[in-house]
Amino acid sequence: MSAVPSYAFFEGRIVPYSEAKVGVMTHTLNYGTGCFGGLRGYWNEDEAQLLVFRPRDHYRRFLQSARLLCMELGMDEEGLVNITLELLRAEGLRQDCYIRPLAYKADETIGVRLHDLHDALTIFAVPFGRYVDNEEGAHVTISSWRRVSDNTIPARGKITGAYVNSAFVKTDAQRAGYDEALVLNRDGHVAEGSAENLFMLRDGVVITPPVTDNVLEGITRRTIISLVRDELGMPVVERSIDRSELYLADELWFSGTGVQIAAITRIDHRPIGSGKMGPLVSDLRELYFDIVRGRVAKYRHWNTPVYVPEASAAD
Ligand code: PMP
Repeated sequence: MSAVPSYAFFEGRIVPYSEAKVGVMTHTLNYGTGCFGGLRGYWNEDEAQLLVFRPRDHYRRFLQSARLLCMELGMDEEGLVNITLELLRAEGLRQDCYIRPLAYKADETIGVRLHDLHDALTIFAVPFGRYVDNEEGAHVTISSWRRVSDNTIPARGKITGAYVNSAFVKTDAQRAGYDEALVLNRDGHVAEGSAENLFMLRDGVVITPPVTDNVLEGITRRTIISLVRDELGMPVVERSIDRSELYLADELWFSGTGVQIAAITRIDHRPIGSGKMGPLVSDLRELYFDIVRGRVAKYRHWNTPVYVPEASAAD
């Protein structure tokens, strides 16, 4: 379990975490009518700097999720990034961390709906290392649950209520002894993991389900698509994936802010490829970890620094 933060952005300002409280009647707590984001900050020891990875892209998606829920947060991406940086400075973290913005229907009222309610924003950050124990070789199952459909709860929105679907998937997988599960759509194609997008290497082509297959439009997914094309010079195809293709894949991996890039080496006791982490996912992980920690100049625009560098002695 992670420790609670010292501060939170709550009701328009940064307050001690203990003051960031809502009443039990709060709409989102009862009906799941909220949306959230998940960003990572990476500590760069050489620069004594905390670097937030692609915050503008995360907040763009956050605002899109809010829009699906008819929310008016009265803030744009830049405003959200600035609050996040201010919060992280207050928190004073000098280690890897996870940042959680949450927008919620704040009224304390009975009656399920999206309209005629007040929207509120909170943000907090906690120290964070690994999301899964098994980044080098996850053993996953195919969940007997199905992914929420666009006409049920849109999976492209990071909607709090929809995460009950993810919780069913994850708990049943872990209780059955697996690290994670892949979830199929209602039409039987592979969507994603409980909180990760999926990539497959087959015959020299990298394949990932399209955003119309009930997946979250992952920022890490987008990052990997760019890196595979631009840095590794390999084709990436966005198309539906059949379950049986997974068994025949040369390599499979999860992507996500939490999981980062994690190899899937077994599905339901069937080895994937060699049954060990493959060379492509291994290369991608190395590249990704360098980029998120700000070690690759070409991608420095994805790293937003938290702390103002100290003035040099000459200034
Ligand atoms: N799918 C789901 C259902 C998720 O919750 C997440 C985590 N946000 C992802 C995919 C990966 O998205 P991202 O790369 O933006 O973290």
